[in-house]
Amino acid sequence: MPEILPGVHQVEGVDPSPDFSTHVYLVKDSGSSWTLIDTGLPGAHAAIFAYLAKIHVDPSAVKKVLLTHLHRDHTGSLHAVAEKTRARTFAHWIEAAYIGLDPKYDGPGTPPAEAFDVDERFKDGDTIDAAGGVIAYHTPGHTPGHTSYYQPERKLLFSGDLFFVEGDAVTLTPPDFTHHTPTAKISARRMGQLTIDSLLSYHGGPILKNGGSAVRALTHKL
Ligand SMILES: [Zn+2]
Repeated sequence: MPEILPGVHQVEGVDPSPDFSTHVYLVKDSGSSWTLIDTGLPGAHAAIFAYLAKIHVDPSAVKKVLLTHLHRDHTGSLHAVAEKTRARTFAHWIEAAYIGLDPKYDGPGTPPAEAFDVDERFKDGDTIDAAGGVIAYHTPGHTPGHTSYYQPERKLLFSGDLFFVEGDAVTLTPPDFTHHTPTAKISARRMGQLTIDSLLSYHGGPILKNGGSAVRALTHKL
């Protein structure tokens, strides 16, 4: 089901193959605007625009794009999405520099193909008036400026690539794709202290109920 929670959609058709599940989330704001969380691989914008058309949302209603991190499977369609929607784009200040390829990221995972100048560069703990109001938690480890977005009233955590979900089980994203796994563990423990109903992971997820229990089952072992 594309509307996985009231006002929270998992955009259909952005997966390049059944073996590589990627989840771009589209969230209704109060009023008539929408927030997109990450933008998928290069070319995923076609699926994003098709999905918007399907649910009768004009691209111009997408007012904000929140980025979890620099990797190309999250930023690949950023140029196309930003150009068509005119949305304001947000990233942690460290990640924004890498998304701008200044400097180019040389850690694990694929950096953006071309530079993008993010509009809003936030810091840990900033609140953002998007997706119903979220707190941006700097959760480094997978990448240096990786961010998770927490919606406190609804207890949603958009966790990007901090976690990897398989069924109801949560693990850390594998070390092969991670800049610094010990730091990712520390970030995971921090997120485990939040009250989480729905864990909206980018790969493999989401876990719609008792997401916090699944996170703590992992963090107790870390
Ligand atoms: Zn990643």
